[in-house]
Amino acid sequence: MIILNVLIEHAAYAINRPFSYVYEGEMSPKVGERVQVSFHNSQVVGYIIGIEETNKSKEEYEEELGYQILVADKLLDSEPILTEELRIVANEVSKYYLSPLISVYQAMLPPSLKPTSSAIKKAQIAYEKYLRVINEDESNLTPKQIELLRLIKGSSEVKKNEIKSISILNKLIANKNVEEYKVEKRRYSFNDIKEFKELTLTYEQQKVKDEFLNTNDNVYLLEGVTGSGKTEVYISIVKEIVASGKTALILVPEINLTPVMMQRFYHLFKEKVAILHSELTSGEKYDEYRKILHREIQVVIGTRSAVFAPLDNLGIIILDEEHVESYKQDNAPCYHAKDVAIMRAKHFENCKVLLGSATPTLESEARALKGVYHHLRLLKRINERELPETEIINLQDYRNIDYLSSIFSKKLRAAIKETLDKKEQVVLLLNRRGYSTSVLCRECGHVIKCPECDIPLVYHSFDKMLKCHNCGHVETQIHQCPECGSKYLSRIGFGSEKVEDEIRKLFPTASVLRLDSDVGKVKNNIASTLKAFSNHEADILIGTQMIAKGHDFPDVTLVGLVLADLGLTLPSARSSERTFQLITQAIGRAGRGAKKGRAIIQTYMPTHYSITYGAKQDYMGFYKEEMRIRKLQQNPPYTFASTLTLTSKNEDLVNQMAFTTLDLVLREGEGNIIGVGPSSPYVKKDSLGYRRICMFKYKDQDKFKEIMQNIINILSKKAGISIKIDIDALDI
Ligand code: ADP
Ligand code: ZN
Ligand code: ZN
Repeated sequence: MIILNVLIEHAAYAINRPFSYVYEGEMSPKVGERVQVSFHNSQVVGYIIGIEETNKSKEEYEEELGYQILVADKLLDSEPILTEELRIVANEVSKYYLSPLISVYQAMLPPSLKPTSSAIKKAQIAYEKYLRVINEDESNLTPKQIELLRLIKGSSEVKKNEIKSISILNKLIANKNVEEYKVEKRRYSFNDIKEFKELTLTYEQQKVKDEFLNTNDNVYLLEGVTGSGKTEVYISIVKEIVASGKTALILVPEINLTPVMMQRFYHLFKEKVAILHSELTSGEKYDEYRKILHREIQVVIGTRSAVFAPLDNLGIIILDEEHVESYKQDNAPCYHAKDVAIMRAKHFENCKVLLGSATPTLESEARALKGVYHHLRLLKRINERELPETEIINLQDYRNIDYLSSIFSKKLRAAIKETLDKKEQVVLLLNRRGYSTSVLCRECGHVIKCPECDIPLVYHSFDKMLKCHNCGHVETQIHQCPECGSKYLSRIGFGSEKVEDEIRKLFPTASVLRLDSDVGKVKNNIASTLKAFSNHEADILIGTQMIAKGHDFPDVTLVGLVLADLGLTLPSARSSERTFQLITQAIGRAGRGAKKGRAIIQTYMPTHYSITYGAKQDYMGFYKEEMRIRKLQQNPPYTFASTLTLTSKNEDLVNQMAFTTLDLVLREGEGNIIGVGPSSPYVKKDSLGYRRICMFKYKDQDKFKEIMQNIINILSKKAGISIKIDIDALDI
């Protein structure tokens, strides 16, 4: 008899262990396949993590256990859907992030293969029908039939749907001259193909490449100023690694950066490149995934979850723009692609992780400076192009105010005009979407808020709706205060839509594009906007941080940061770092072509170090200052920081539990854990109820996790409370 040890699809701590079922079917089940099981009287999907064979009968076995064991015969897969290496990594991820193991498997797999009930209805294999000749005997055939028979015989691959004369074909099939056969179809096809001429690496690029290939470390940090040609280095290294018979995994932080990478790599590896990102249909994802699993792929390009691509024989994992926070998932398992990449690389012989950025995270830079990561540098821009000339505009100074505009200073408006006059392009960045930031009643001071999250709703002029930027709640515009009935409502603050409005008023003949996640709600909109702008089909691109990253627009000579200190007003240990990164990356978009670039930074905090160092593109200056502050405040990278979020419909209960938990952790930590909170987050409430956050800072990871595991055991038995653990949280 065969016993299956199965994880149940529900990702709850309370059932984070295998359950046993008897298998009595015909097939031979394997670890790593899914099976349908009955759990608490409902049919759910289980994932097999162990198989035991026993000589005992079911009755004997049950006698021993003391309870009845259910039969599970319906296997859902005919082969394991994860490689053995990934199954080991799943265990490591689950342990490191204190997440239920099943939640890790769910994060690893594409929608059609997830161990969940909803996956069953998702796309399965698509086939294409082909034809082949099985009997060449032409006697008894009409001339038309012979003609078709010879056509099929003479071609190497004939798809059934390419044959126009169906009735003649059907006769040939009925006559057993021809038969159909099925081939798995790949639904995704890359058709944005572009030719690239081979570039010769510069001396500096070549040196980095040689150092990477000729040394033997696990993790490398490539710190290269914007426009220093990091992509070319990646390509050249991947070429060598693939030539040696290994595979390569390339991660980019955002979907918008995949087309460019894809173009570069498709050019070299054609059908051997697979892509994995969230805008593929579930059918496309399924096909790409299976191609990789079946070892038909050499290079995978993708966003965060592609770090789990089932490549075998990995030689390199690249994280481009490693500092970008979208590499961290913010629901369980709250994994960071960088740490998973490092975990995976350990399982392959001589597999290296290459992190690239112009503004590495403090964590990565500190490790590189200490020699934990191998530090590589590109100090010069390609063709010795200079970094843009930058100027900080103090918005507190009335002399800078432009009476024609509430958004642009005199300098910025003049610079836009000059740039447009020269037929060059402008990028304007404001890291806030929507039209205004809130709607306020001028009679009673009431602010219109989201009923779910209790944060101000943002007015969007495009569809004249009020929207919650946290949960997506929308309302039609209102004309009366819901509290006092007054008609005097004001829109406060401004976002990217208003910048667009203002630009259209000030420069009516300029052609303008806007890019933010609202534009991105329609599939492919972002890609087509970026493409149009890089083909110089528009003069001005307005956008949120989305436009600051990675893109190479050769005709852009002016970058304007409309309000650079937006992020500094948010209470976070990382707000300075985020601001510095945004400024540096944004400025880096200017002057990448033959002409010199210029950047104008508008701010109310002109002397803040993240702004002054950002303007100078002085990473080391910023790093030193910020490290000093992190040390004083005992923040990462001097400590590790993690958060525990408790949620309950009952506000008193969640409050009380949060205090008890915090106390318990601190007591167990014996003075080695710093606790902050419990605090109510900015978004106080969600569909699960009221939230409280406890933050912990510590140096001994193992000790902290041991304590947290105990806390999980206690809290998961408590009714009415749900918990979320975010190890190495970014929001601190
Ligand atoms: P980064 O990612 O470091 O900001 P990119 O990889 O986008 O920089 O490169 C900047 C520009 O320099 C691109 O237009 C790229 O085509 C060009 N470039 C890179 N390497 C070379 C080279 N060896 N010779 C000529 N041009 C290059
Ligand atoms: Zn009012
Ligand atoms: Zn909301």
